[in-house]
Amino acid sequence: MQTIIVLATQNANKIREIRELLQEYAVQVKSLADFGPMPEAVEDGTTFDENAYKKALHYAKVLGLPCLADDSGLCVDVLDGRPGVHSARYAGEQASDADNCTKLLQEMTGQANRAAHFTCVLSLAVPSGPALTWEASCAGEILEEKRGESGFGYDPVFYYPDFGKTFAEVSLVQKSSVSHRGKALREFAAEFDKVAVWLRQRMEEIKPPKPDHTEFEHNDWSQERMV
Ligand code: IMP
Repeated sequence: MQTIIVLATQNANKIREIRELLQEYAVQVKSLADFGPMPEAVEDGTTFDENAYKKALHYAKVLGLPCLADDSGLCVDVLDGRPGVHSARYAGEQASDADNCTKLLQEMTGQANRAAHFTCVLSLAVPSGPALTWEASCAGEILEEKRGESGFGYDPVFYYPDFGKTFAEVSLVQKSSVSHRGKALREFAAEFDKVAVWLRQRMEEIKPPKPDHTEFEHNDWSQERMV
């Protein structure tokens, strides 16, 4: 039986990137775009891990299929980790990427310590609750003004010392070779053989018992969430 994973995103770039990474494996990679409208996940957690898991579990339950979700953001040392899980809406509910960068640059005015990192957490959940998690970070510095046109979010203000450039001044391929998301996805893909076995076992366990089954083993899934 072929493994199916649903990516909990509509973002075409993320979908393409993950499909490419998993192309050598016997897995069918679907996305939310392959299904009809459905209730959105509520991402009100206080950590990237919590939000990634909430999103993955929400769609896994709605669809009855394993779902992979990511949550990521920028954490600035001198701001005690802000914008963190609020990265997307740092300057307000309807804030654009430009608004968020402007707010960050204002807050960083006069700060000598410019250290920051992006973090990405990937969560792969099955409908009954267990999940596997991968986390990766990428360290850099916040510039005093924006540089570069490519990328998204905080890329124009995030300077990566090894490149001598911001993430908005390099190609997506170059960025992905060192980025939080690129690293987490490669770790996930590198373990995919083991992941596929885990998924098959978890999905088998949640199938309704056949009529001739008399006993059903109980598992405490809460022990198994983090790996
Ligand atoms: P998401 O979890 O991938 O949707 O990211 C949440 C927010 O974090 C985005 O809206 C961006 O503001 C910020 N972010 C995450 N990853 C990146 C990145 O690679 N570059 C720039 N900003 C990012």
